[in-house]
Amino acid sequence: MPQTANPLKQFFRQPSIYLRLPSLGQYWDQAKIDMPPNKELPVYPMTAIDEITYRTPDALFNGQAVVNVIQSCIPAIRDAWNMPGCDLNAILVAIRIASYGHEMEMTIKCPKCETDSDFILDLRIVLDKLTCPDYNKAMQQGDLEITFTPITYQHQNETNLKQFDQQRLIQQIQMSDQLTDEQKIEQLNETLQKITNLTIETLKYSIASIRTPQSLVTEPEFIQEFLVNCDRKFFTEIRDHIIDLRQKSEIESINVTCSHCNHKWPQNLTLDQAAFFGDAS
Ligand SMILES: [Zn+2]
Repeated sequence: MPQTANPLKQFFRQPSIYLRLPSLGQYWDQAKIDMPPNKELPVYPMTAIDEITYRTPDALFNGQAVVNVIQSCIPAIRDAWNMPGCDLNAILVAIRIASYGHEMEMTIKCPKCETDSDFILDLRIVLDKLTCPDYNKAMQQGDLEITFTPITYQHQNETNLKQFDQQRLIQQIQMSDQLTDEQKIEQLNETLQKITNLTIETLKYSIASIRTPQSLVTEPEFIQEFLVNCDRKFFTEIRDHIIDLRQKSEIESINVTCSHCNHKWPQNLTLDQAAFFGDAS
């Protein structure tokens, strides 16, 4: 008689670490995450399928691969598209630790003498330093009070793809030998306009509310209309504030010393996915 329950189940992967999100679950749609009372999410190592998914360059690009791997390794996250941007780095670092351990070997080229140095990064320290700023803290602007929210992975991904398209278009216009100079200028202007619109879109999704003396505005379309029509100075202040908030959830640069010439410099770390998950085996 065939067995109904798989006796191998007890040998399936187990959680290898527990993750406390920088946001502690704030800014999430609560239907999209099962937050345990102690706020510690179990993180499972990647399966072979996850690893293949992650390393496929095309799938990487639309964000679906990232989402699939996150939902596979942290099943408490039901919809990773909904994840606020301030948690993304911590989630990726935790999955990397759960899958390959906390030490990450890196080769870094000294900017001064160009010697390659091997370097071991302790990802536990990186993870501990990741924080989420207080997006609820209001910004006062004359009669207006603005509160913020981190952009979701879905919106971030959409904007990144559109931005990439526009940048590719700029290159094509510049390289073109079919277009006259006037046509090039005209098309470049059009493209730059579209890029500005994308910035406005990102800002729109980063604003939770704008309070006027009479009312509270949370409708994204009204906020967008306001951003298009407010004065330049006001716009710049809002934009800089949002950039500043986003930078607070970035990974801190690490101080590196060259073993050859003793030159010291701050090295930026980016979680470029293919490299981040590709070098371990
Ligand atoms: Zn050097």
